[in-house]
Amino acid sequence: MSWNIVGHEWAVDQLRHSILADSDAHAYIFSGPPGIGKAAMALHMAMALNCERSPGDPCQECRACRLIMRGSHPDVRIAGMASQAAAIKADEAARQKELKIATIREWQHDISLRPYEGRRRVLILHDAERLNEESSNAMLKTLEEPPDYATIILVSNSTDLLPTIVSRCRVLRLRPLPRRQVAEALVSRNIIADDAELLAAWSGGRVGWAIAAAAQPETITARQEQLTALVELGIHSHNRGIAFRWAEQRAKEYRGGEQETVFAWLDLWQGWWRDVLLVAAGCHESVVNIDRREDLVHTANNHPISVIHAFMRRISTTAQQLRENGNPQLVLENLLLHMPKDGRGIAA
Ligand SMILES: [Zn+2]
Repeated sequence: MSWNIVGHEWAVDQLRHSILADSDAHAYIFSGPPGIGKAAMALHMAMALNCERSPGDPCQECRACRLIMRGSHPDVRIAGMASQAAAIKADEAARQKELKIATIREWQHDISLRPYEGRRRVLILHDAERLNEESSNAMLKTLEEPPDYATIILVSNSTDLLPTIVSRCRVLRLRPLPRRQVAEALVSRNIIADDAELLAAWSGGRVGWAIAAAAQPETITARQEQLTALVELGIHSHNRGIAFRWAEQRAKEYRGGEQETVFAWLDLWQGWWRDVLLVAAGCHESVVNIDRREDLVHTANNHPISVIHAFMRRISTTAQQLRENGNPQLVLENLLLHMPKDGRGIAA
């Protein structure tokens, strides 16, 4: 397979055959959870369309392939929340939730010009789920009458786009890969087996996430420290001082523009309790936090399943209340007040 993409073989096959048969679409949506490999797929599609040696099967070596891989091909335009953020201050960027119409206009600015040196002009838009109504409408015009030589690829973390947009695109939904396949991809990139197993388990089948995390060893340490903090919160659930300090820190992050960090904490905690539930049900194979089996077994033995379920629901409600602009400190303190009580802290 010349696309050098991990997994998603059906999608590569489909795209490759459509290019070779000259039946490729003018507009695509690549959707799927963050880090699943959509960005790599979009870049490889741009290469497959423009490769100077073997269209359909990008050589990854010719000038066009290399420029596209580096993000500097004159006929491949890429935009998204990251490019929008690059133009403004970091704290302002953190508050931005939508793709602005100015970003879309600039991105599609020269679509009416013929390709400069490639065969096709390829426009890739990341974070398409963040198009607001105004920018969606600006996009529609282009989708309705794309020039013959243009391919538009919308990369989206969800399929929740305007139906008028979806109906004009060929949609490819990328799904999580098997854990084994992610681990093998990491090992083939010289990641040691234990780390590969761990990252593959944590990745939930999102190979792009796993590869990015492997390149930053501090990701592993940071996540382990966060989980330790959460497990300790449970152990010391009777100690309101510890709990409130945690809530205070998270609330500070939230108000300081780091909302996503706080949601990541809640996701991590939700994942932890999902594991506890799996262990309680005897499904050890599916556990994500494979480096914490002992803690998981202990926690599962200490709490009735109904209590675990109730707390998981509460974590979801907390995230929702934050999204609805609830007071972060109060909302998080309330969550901690309802933590399942672990006997270990009192005994110590
Ligand atoms: Zn090439």
